[in-house]
Amino acid sequence: MRLPLIAGNWKMNMTETEGISLVRVLIPRVRALPGVEVLVCPPFTALSQLHKLLISSPIQLGAQNISEHEAGAYTGEISARMAAEFCSHVILGHSERRAYHAESDRSIHHKIQMARTAGLVPILCVGESLEERDAGQVSSVLSRQLRRALEGIPLSGPQELVIAYEPVWAIGTGRSADPEDISELVANVIRPSLVGLWGENISQGIRVLYGGSVNPGNAMSFFSQPEIDGALVGGASLEAEKFLSVIEKTQ
Ligand code: PEP
Repeated sequence: MRLPLIAGNWKMNMTETEGISLVRVLIPRVRALPGVEVLVCPPFTALSQLHKLLISSPIQLGAQNISEHEAGAYTGEISARMAAEFCSHVILGHSERRAYHAESDRSIHHKIQMARTAGLVPILCVGESLEERDAGQVSSVLSRQLRRALEGIPLSGPQELVIAYEPVWAIGTGRSADPEDISELVANVIRPSLVGLWGENISQGIRVLYGGSVNPGNAMSFFSQPEIDGALVGGASLEAEKFLSVIEKTQ
């Protein structure tokens, strides 16, 4: 009932030229894969050219961040409206933004409001640190991050939001979470939080992705869990064959 989504987060990698080469390999191969949505999230500098290349392709384009402000004197920032000229989605609340750019649940909430107003679909990242996991706080951390980011955000349908569960200790470390643990967290913590905000009808259709060291070798173990609706992929999205191999595991 929920179409799988595989999103590639390129982070601060890929010049525009490198991004174009990668996407040229992806386009015909993704076109041949039915039943999966594919999204790439390049740096801002590549968005304009990739938008031209992807407009008539099955691959969608996302930004990695936006400003929490609407417009004005915010040097170096990119607004939701600017990103929406090229993108359908935006990654928000990524743990690297929370850790290195001091993003709070409050600023993430403002960014989600900006994204929705501009017509962008937020991919909200939530996840616990290793210390929080060891202290048995996973459920409380996830419910708090979800509530603070999403409370008061109106949704008229499930396609207007994506959640990515990304345990901080699994990102870029080669150590991924256990697929059954993820399923349990989605079923017992994440999905019920969404139901609390928007009721059953909308919430059952919102896709919940897993992110954290997903690669061609482990992707199938996640996608075989009915609670996991796809993946947010970092490192393995930077090489066409690896990313395609992850995408193919949804078939
Ligand atoms: C990410 O950056 O969202 C991510 C999951 O990275 P990686 O796949 O490299 O762990």
